[in-house]
Amino acid sequence: MNSRRDFLQKLAASALAMPFLSSYDAFGHADFRLPVSQGPVLRVALMGLGGYASRVAEAMQSCKRAKITGLISGTPGKLQEWGAKYQVPEKSRYNYENFDNIKDNPDIDAVYVITPNALHHDQVIRVAKAGKHAICEKPMALNAKEGQEMVDACANAGVKLLVGYRMHFEPKTLEVVRMRQAGELGKIMFFQGQCGFRIGDPNQWRLDKALAGGGSLMDIGIYAVNGARYMVGEEPVWVTAQETKTDTAKFKEGVDETIQFQLGFPSGAVASCLSTYNMNYLDRFFLNGEKGFAELQPSTGYGPIKGRTNKGELTQPHVTHQTLQMDEMAGIILDNNKPVVPVDGEEGLKDLKIMDAIYAACATGQRQELRG
Ligand code: NDP
Repeated sequence: MNSRRDFLQKLAASALAMPFLSSYDAFGHADFRLPVSQGPVLRVALMGLGGYASRVAEAMQSCKRAKITGLISGTPGKLQEWGAKYQVPEKSRYNYENFDNIKDNPDIDAVYVITPNALHHDQVIRVAKAGKHAICEKPMALNAKEGQEMVDACANAGVKLLVGYRMHFEPKTLEVVRMRQAGELGKIMFFQGQCGFRIGDPNQWRLDKALAGGGSLMDIGIYAVNGARYMVGEEPVWVTAQETKTDTAKFKEGVDETIQFQLGFPSGAVASCLSTYNMNYLDRFFLNGEKGFAELQPSTGYGPIKGRTNKGELTQPHVTHQTLQMDEMAGIILDNNKPVVPVDGEEGLKDLKIMDAIYAACATGQRQELRG
């Protein structure tokens, strides 16, 4: 039997028996510790000590197979504060100018790049040249050309490149993937991915094209792009897209507020998606086949994810996404484990190619063909 399926069945059984129950999250939901595989611990340096890195760092305190052993920041005060909090010695603290020196640090296996999008390309390539594995936040890069260069650099250096696609390990998401793979939904006909939130501060990097590379699509719509692929289980062959903007002062040239896009798959299945920086509580996946449906809402937030299918509610337990992600990524990097839904650089590159095509479709009004 597929080891992931086996794992999820054990997870469900253990949830009933409660032996792994160790704590409760901020919502009061049980945070089940998972029977993650035994093995060596992945020693990780976090790069870019901002909002999301804080969440990752806290979640990693519950990891069994991943540990923070290095820090890279442009803010000296954070290096001091985080160094003390997570017991990272001074010799393993770096800034953006000197982090190439991690090549000589035997206490670091991998660097997790959690900086603004435009910085990922150069930073990941420098990590690869230092001989360390790279975990890179989404979007992996600003476009497919950059993404390909990152994939090549990591391959040439003999290191792994993973993308922070935390949903690829989320139990309810994986149950829908399992149902689709098992044919329980029948032939897949339709996917809907709706992802958005109302963005605040107009001066943040997410609204600066130079640092963000775009707008809502780069930041949140990417979940619909990526989700369409793992939910339908195929690679799209065409894209159409339309952009709408209601606030041209806040969303400047090249920073998309709202994009609707459609994807066509080889089987004939279609996806209809919405990405926006102008609507709160937009977080829903819907998959329909000839025999059944699955709906996740919320679908990609930090959780708990909720879902139902034509067979009833999904009952897989909530797990802190980043804890599970980092334990699973340790298994991928150190044991060569293969996740059900890939999280490697090629996976990130596929999304970037589709996003390039979505932007091209918005700019030209023309359907874009996707090949290879
Ligand atoms: P933040 O602005 O909160 O943090 C980014 C950090 O990057 C800063 O605190 C800073 O850390 C560092 N940095 C380096 N150069 C710059 C610069 N020129 N401008 C601003 N910051 C800089 O962003 P987030 O943590 O929210 O996002 C970081 C990345 O993580 C993005 O790629 C985003 O898409 C991704 N992300 C992923 C999520 C997920 O669920 N997978 C959720 C949220 C974000 P320092 O002072 O240490 O140098």
